[in-house]
Amino acid sequence: MRIGNGWDLHRLEEGRTLVLGGVEIESPKGAVAHSDGDALIHAMIDALLGAAGLADIGTYFPDTDPTYKDIDSRVLLRMTNDLVREKDYDIVNFDTTIVLQSPKLAPYIPLMKEALSEALDLDEDCIGIKAKTAEHILGELGTGDAVMASAVVLLEER
Ligand code: MG
Repeated sequence: MRIGNGWDLHRLEEGRTLVLGGVEIESPKGAVAHSDGDALIHAMIDALLGAAGLADIGTYFPDTDPTYKDIDSRVLLRMTNDLVREKDYDIVNFDTTIVLQSPKLAPYIPLMKEALSEALDLDEDCIGIKAKTAEHILGELGTGDAVMASAVVLLEER
């Protein structure tokens, strides 16, 4: 068994699209990023890479590479899962947390689970997603100008 953790943060700006867990969230502000800025998936990718003893997300998917401009992060998640499987590891489960001041994410969580389950070929009940606000503190997180996500993954050797 191998454990990994990942973390990501994106600044939010008006007029951009907010995508979390592969799902578009109705919000006046979206992530500033080279890819689609899906902080949850980026945290999950780093957790997978770390658990498999691989390098970080920026090594595999550099934000200077035009290939990844505005890319759907689910594509990167699938590619990462392939790297992990090539090392003879399978995902047991994920547990994740998103910190976003607004909007409330509860209605989107079932959709995120569905999207992630499909991308990873993993049962929905093996994917935990918790959403919290920043209690109006913690700088840009508290003012709704940033989103943060963290993820823990457990892998087992095939
Ligand atoms: Mg990111």
